[in-house]
Amino acid sequence: MSQRIAKHFNRAEFACNCGCGFDTVDAATLRILDAVREHFGKPVTVTSGCRCETYNRKVGGAANSQHTLARAADIQIKGVAPDAVYDWLASNYPSASLGRYDTFTHVDTRSNGPARW
Ligand SMILES: [Zn+2]
Ligand SMILES: [Zn+2]
Repeated sequence: MSQRIAKHFNRAEFACNCGCGFDTVDAATLRILDAVREHFGKPVTVTSGCRCETYNRKVGGAANSQHTLARAADIQIKGVAPDAVYDWLASNYPSASLGRYDTFTHVDTRSNGPARW
């Protein structure tokens, strides 16, 4: 059983991929993800949400990555180009921090943002 923590998301979707159980997610990040889900009208897959320090190092994440602070998610939407997700977020959430990648979009709600790459 997974606990629903946003309109369209369960806590388990954000759990650290290493299996450590770290699955706390920032509320502001969840609000943005719900908005993405509703705008595109398709399920949003979280490929990486929370990361413990050990897992973050293992996957080559940045030191002090927002993933380790429970404020970040890497997302994919089936049938929607990551560029389109990035561009919609950049237009509609000017304070969100965003990363553009070939196969996913990074979004976070760091307090000293926005960062864009
Ligand atoms: Zn972990
Ligand atoms: Zn990321």
